[in-house]
Amino acid sequence: MTIDINKIRHDFLILSEKIYGKSLVYFDNAATSQTPTQVTDVMLEYYNKYNSNIHRGVHYLSNKSTEGAENARIKVQKFINAEHSHEVIFTRGTTESVNLVANSFGECYISEGDEVLVSEMEHHSNIVPWQMLCQRKKAILKVLPFNDNGELMLEKLPELITDRTKILAVNHISNALGTTNPIKEIIDFAHSKNVPVLIDAAQSVQHKKIDVQALDADFLVFSGHKLYGPTGIGVLYGKEKYLNEMPPWQGGGEMIQEVTFEKTTYNELPFKFEAGTPNYIAEIGLGAAIDYVEAIGLDVIDAYEQELLDYATEKFQAIPNMKIYGTAKHKSSLISFLVEGIHFYDMGMLLDQMGIAVRTGTHCAEPVMTHFGIEGTVRASFAFYNTKEEIDVLIAGIEKVCKMFGAKTV
Ligand code: PLP
Repeated sequence: MTIDINKIRHDFLILSEKIYGKSLVYFDNAATSQTPTQVTDVMLEYYNKYNSNIHRGVHYLSNKSTEGAENARIKVQKFINAEHSHEVIFTRGTTESVNLVANSFGECYISEGDEVLVSEMEHHSNIVPWQMLCQRKKAILKVLPFNDNGELMLEKLPELITDRTKILAVNHISNALGTTNPIKEIIDFAHSKNVPVLIDAAQSVQHKKIDVQALDADFLVFSGHKLYGPTGIGVLYGKEKYLNEMPPWQGGGEMIQEVTFEKTTYNELPFKFEAGTPNYIAEIGLGAAIDYVEAIGLDVIDAYEQELLDYATEKFQAIPNMKIYGTAKHKSSLISFLVEGIHFYDMGMLLDQMGIAVRTGTHCAEPVMTHFGIEGTVRASFAFYNTKEEIDVLIAGIEKVCKMFGAKTV
């Protein structure tokens, strides 16, 4: 099966928008991907026909909303091949999922002198919650470095994992470099030392088929808005054995079983971790996004996006004074770059004037920038609705900016 690009692009209305009178070229997919009408239509239908708070009602509307939200949980379960649907917890996004684990797992399993291991290429969302936990518990945050190609130095794992290591948190795909990390190998090694692993899949669920059971991941987190779904919704997958032992981290709403002023008992999974009214219409939207992606097929998506990456990389390499940050052997469809003598903000702002949306700055991964001794990069990230013609527009745009700055171009 191949991508029917014209049909797909019709599903994303925003792709036909004009920016400053020019056709939009959207290459900021790693920050937020666009949403097809198949997702927005379902959400609108729920708002217009079935909206009512879930779990607490006996009436028709509440039951319809509850059914929609719980079906969405099952879709997520199947999407990542979790053993049980109650191992899927809905959160606001990747960041909240990591915070949940850092707080709750941290409360349960981490004491003074223990160690938490993260990698040097993490998004701040997979650094700061652990750092806060370590400060609170007087634990130690250790860092697995990467080499100048942007590949994790796995040979350092044996010395970094000690008998005080309580958890390893690492991304599947780096949002700043595009590196696809060998997470199965990392998980297997950590498990051989009895260390559980949290996988930040914020940049991978939209590109690669994930099977949490085959990976044997202990926790896996991602966001809806990078998976062609709505904003404000995300997932924490956790193995039942950990989630059962972990205490709730927020109180109120559906997370209780019984409340008295003396004592509260907590609900069972997954509700123990879902305090307050959940973003149930976004949950339903996420379910629709999963349906959309699965109808195309992640293998098909991945192959097409790799084609875009190869095409773009070759064109980028032909631009004089171009430096690509992140040249790992296994890479996802994004290119982080700088042209010598041109500040990333100038490049980003001038491309914007041409209707081309790219991201500039640290990409919330300051340690990656520190590694290379730079303040930021320009990042172009590709999705399955992008085309080689759009990449040509980007390349022409970069060359135009180079000429404006007097940089030598082809
Ligand atoms: N982790 C990675 C690898 C990311 O790329 C991002 C967002 O860019 C996040 C975590 C945070 O995601 P969110 O802002 O949706 O919580």
